[in-house]
Amino acid sequence: MPEDFQALVIEETDGKPKAAFKSLTVDDLPSHDVLVEVEYSTLNYKDGLAISGKQKIARKPPLIAGIDLAGTVVESRSAEFKPGERVLVNGWGLSETQSGGYTRYQRVKAEWLVRIPDRFSTKHAMAIGTAGYTAALCVDAIERWGVRNGPVLVTGAAGGVGSIATALVSARGYSVTASTGRLATHEYLAKLGATAFVSREELSMEGGPLQKERWGAAIDVVGGLTLVNVLSQTLYGGAVAACGLAGGAGMPKATVLPHILRGIALLGVDSVMAPQAVRQAAWARLARDLEPDRLASITTEEPMSKLPQLANLILSGDVRGRIVIDVTR
Ligand code: NDP
Repeated sequence: MPEDFQALVIEETDGKPKAAFKSLTVDDLPSHDVLVEVEYSTLNYKDGLAISGKQKIARKPPLIAGIDLAGTVVESRSAEFKPGERVLVNGWGLSETQSGGYTRYQRVKAEWLVRIPDRFSTKHAMAIGTAGYTAALCVDAIERWGVRNGPVLVTGAAGGVGSIATALVSARGYSVTASTGRLATHEYLAKLGATAFVSREELSMEGGPLQKERWGAAIDVVGGLTLVNVLSQTLYGGAVAACGLAGGAGMPKATVLPHILRGIALLGVDSVMAPQAVRQAAWARLARDLEPDRLASITTEEPMSKLPQLANLILSGDVRGRIVIDVTR
């Protein structure tokens, strides 16, 4: 183990969050029961907010940033995990109330850990990352409710959650309509399984409370008017899994009409505090339905040293698919 290593730490000066690379030792890490040698983390929308300082994500600074990590157990005081096991953490407050994944070593609680499915490498695990695991939670939610007889809509399809949701929904045999604001991503999304497209603009224009029924179910990462329209366009008795707010946290002009006249369900999806059993089911779905080879077309690998620039890129909506962060560089 090296004497010291680099980590991206969020500090607070005059009430304002600021990200800076620091040299740390394992003694600087929290006292949790499992020490993990981290190989990869990822860049998610929330990481972009934390690193850029555009939103106060770290509620107990100073904290190492990064909402997820994958690596190998080095030391463990837990009977559940042994040195040499390949593990990942998604959420559980990493980078918000707990020290996160942008570091070579991290100590975590055993109950946060998920074993990486045999089918995936540590890099695959982070190519999926919190975005892909959230996509799996969304597909679990709509299937639990029951998908009606119509295409499944995925919004923000070319982003991290959307890309993997598209692949997972298509793997289940549903036809997928992808909504994206980027024409140039149609070919990429078609390779992931999308068979039809609807523009971001069309879904974000103000429409009536009960529009033409189109979707057998939907997965929405955008929120705002888009989510309101998607609810108004879902087939009778269908459901929309909502996990994101890339287009806004509000639901302007929303009415109860789709819910009380068409029985539409709005299924909220949270990945951060989801119980272990729910996580295990989502990762089992990913291991079953996501070809590791498919991840290559979704993923770009970047060194940890580039995170400050990458943060602005993801906030401007210009990232395609998933960015895996190599924490050794
Ligand atoms: P990305 O930035 O990778 O993708 C978001 C996508 O949304 C973009 O690629 C773009 O898709 C679309 N988009 C961006 N801005 C707008 C806009 N103003 N209006 C409409 N569409 C827009 O982020 P992630 O996929 O990682 O995350 C998506 C959302 O899900 C975020 O809000 C994130 O916070 C949330 N999230 C929630 C989780 C939870 O536990 N509930 C867990 C993980 C993420 P396109 O170019 O195709 O139009």
